[in-house]
Amino acid sequence: MIKSRREQFETLFPDQPAFRWKQIEQGLFSTAESWEDLTSLSKEIREKISSIPFSTVEPENILKSGNGDTHKVILKVEGDKEIESVLMKNKREAWTICVSSQIGCAMRCGFCATGKMGLSRSLTADEIIDQYRFWQRYLDERPELEGRISNIVFMGMGEPLANYGAVKESLNAILKHTDIGRTRITVSTVGVLPRLEQILTDDDWPHIRLAVSLHSAIPATRKEIVPTSYDEFLPKIEAWAKAYLKKFGNRRHHLTFEYVMLKDVNDSEKHARTLANFVKRIGNVRVNLIPYNLTGVEFQCSTGSATDLFQKILKEKGVVTTIRHTMGDDIAAACGQLIVENNKTK
Ligand code: SF4
Repeated sequence: MIKSRREQFETLFPDQPAFRWKQIEQGLFSTAESWEDLTSLSKEIREKISSIPFSTVEPENILKSGNGDTHKVILKVEGDKEIESVLMKNKREAWTICVSSQIGCAMRCGFCATGKMGLSRSLTADEIIDQYRFWQRYLDERPELEGRISNIVFMGMGEPLANYGAVKESLNAILKHTDIGRTRITVSTVGVLPRLEQILTDDDWPHIRLAVSLHSAIPATRKEIVPTSYDEFLPKIEAWAKAYLKKFGNRRHHLTFEYVMLKDVNDSEKHARTLANFVKRIGNVRVNLIPYNLTGVEFQCSTGSATDLFQKILKEKGVVTTIRHTMGDDIAAACGQLIVENNKTK
């Protein structure tokens, strides 16, 4: 069990007042580069606290896309493990970061490089927060990369809701100490129903945006793409989504269904119509079609015309549908692939 920075601090300084930790947490989100820079702390505390890691992630390898709009880093974490994290230019002339929540993943989605790695362990809240801090500093040190981090997506390695406590803690810390609002953060889940149910009644869960990776509204197809899915998943997620939107939905708060476009698997007109009917039964749901760009495994990307037709059918049925703009495919095609490639070269 990895001790959090806070636990280590409380062991080192059992008699400090509660506000001291708040002061330290604030300092972690500042431009400070080491404990030494936190001059609001006494010299004695700064000396003693140096045994606690100022950052729990260490960059190993950074890649930039040819056009400079995507930067990916492999970060080393406790136990000599690696995760990846991504910085992407967004439409607002600011940056979106894509963070990992686990090392590997147990969900085994057939199209995903991370799923092929299996699960090594979940990340701590510190390790998730420190991905944000890493990119914040990366931008601070490179004034030519204009713009701030305006959005965060939990779409890197791992299933965020399988690491519920640490993800919640990191979300609350980021919301507290940065100017990023709840509608600028998206947690993407393959649909861990017990945790989705928990969100309905958890007062500490911050109501950021949720995206459910549906990939098909036909049970057998979904099972083919997400082998950990089960027959009752679709009616259960439909009931959950209705309850979620009844409780939290409003003009600014919708649900998203992610849908990776796989040639001859889930991209037929029948699939589009079934998805449209499924979404229409639920309500304020948007569909995001994702062009699939990882080659060398059992799936292939749908053609551009199949994707356009799929979108047209959904739109004709009144479903708000976007096609995700693919970025950084020259440096790593999909989440987890960078780690796989990195390890091949070792
Ligand atoms: S797509 Fe997400 S949930 Fe599925 S295996 Fe990959 S990381 Fe895990």
